[in-house]
Amino acid sequence: MRICVFGAASPTIDKKYIEATEELCQQLAKRGHNLVFGGGGNGLMGAAARGFRDGGAHIIGVIPKFFEQESVEEICDFCDELIMPDTMRQRKQIMEDHADAFVVVPGGIGTYEEFFEILTSKQLCRHRKPIALYNISGYYNELDATMQSAIDKEFIKDVCKQLYLITEDVDKLIDYVESPPELLYTLKEFKNG
Ligand code: AMP
Repeated sequence: MRICVFGAASPTIDKKYIEATEELCQQLAKRGHNLVFGGGGNGLMGAAARGFRDGGAHIIGVIPKFFEQESVEEICDFCDELIMPDTMRQRKQIMEDHADAFVVVPGGIGTYEEFFEILTSKQLCRHRKPIALYNISGYYNELDATMQSAIDKEFIKDVCKQLYLITEDVDKLIDYVESPPELLYTLKEFKNG
């Protein structure tokens, strides 16, 4: 499978996030999976790329041209393919089109945006690809609680819990990505239910 990893660009995060991401990604690569990601060389993007590289995977980075032109970011220098679209929107579309599954490691605004965009389109049955959040050191506990609160207040439908997995357990995450449960509703049922 080609796995799209979303994650932090920040180079100053705690080492525990870097190490856990590298280890997970190396395991994914050893199971024969390949990487598509945002092309950054720092933070958890860099960690994901190193993990997949060390596990022998094929790596596709997708980074808008202005990152290079304006020296915004250190670009990962060992991608097998580097795709350079004009805009951030095109980049997300390319990453989504290339991916069979999404793994979201801890991140900031960019990562949250990427997560919610693919979650929104899955909610509307535009794709059925697995989405797994890797909850390193409980990073996504607050997000989990926020989602539950919105479900309790009926802003989000309860069935939406089927759309993604949040876990700190690597085996569970890999299992979910490789054999996701079937999505148990159609768009019509979702809208009327
Ligand atoms: P953030 O979570 O705000 O650090 O943003 C990281 C996510 O957004 C990654 O998954 C990238 O696809 C995208 N992104 C945002 N900023 C950058 C950057 N400086 N370099 C590469 N990708 C970035």
